[in-house]
Amino acid sequence: MNNKRGKIIVIAAPSGCGKSTIINALLEGGDLNLGFSVSATTRPPREGEVDGVNYYFMSEENFRDAIAEGRFVEFEEVYPGRFYGTLRSEIDRILDEGHNIILDLDVNGALSVKKLYGREALSIFIEPPSIEELRRRLEFRGTESSEVIDVRVDRAQYEISRAAEFDTAVVNDRLDEAINTVRNIIKGFTVLY
Ligand code: ADP
Ligand code: 5GP
Repeated sequence: MNNKRGKIIVIAAPSGCGKSTIINALLEGGDLNLGFSVSATTRPPREGEVDGVNYYFMSEENFRDAIAEGRFVEFEEVYPGRFYGTLRSEIDRILDEGHNIILDLDVNGALSVKKLYGREALSIFIEPPSIEELRRRLEFRGTESSEVIDVRVDRAQYEISRAAEFDTAVVNDRLDEAINTVRNIIKGFTVLY
């Protein structure tokens, strides 16, 4: 606990870009006083994902109830029929505990949170070295069918076109370099502001 309210770090990247890998490395590093905002989603869990750790997995009905109750700071239908949202309770809990908060959001969600929190928030866009490399990573990860990969690659092209709207963008080519760059950007922001 400390008296300084934590800062908000919003990270967006096309699916398959390495965003979860980078965020996990930052959380494991333990030097940035980060708490991860667990989002709610209506998509089914991937193998190994745990409810309440990776996401709060919800039925569409429960998600709609949460919208009606005003429990989301933002929510988006990121893919057709697949809803994702940031819970107000997650943000408040983590900031009240004196931690900085890191959010893994799609482009629209990330820019909404940045707009809401202004100077308290830093928005970072992670870019793939190329669309071909992005597809290769999604295929290598092996968690989506080829149809779903096509949808994600299409969406990636739209998302990359909005990179300039972020405070800063980092290319995830060499993983260790990308992690260090993002770590240093976050350090600068949380210490200076
Ligand atoms: P996202 O969370 O953005 O959807 P992941 O973190 O799951 O992406 O990464 C997608 C795949 O790409 C994973 O198999 C991961 O190990 C791999 N990956 C991540 N960063 C790199 C990198 N710099 N070079 C090569 N492969 C990477
Ligand atoms: P995935 O299904 O690969 O876990 O996530 C798909 C996309 O949804 C990613 O771009 C991820 O950042 C985004 N996402 C995850 N949680 C949220 C959220 O709460 N709000 C928004 N707007 N996007 C989210």
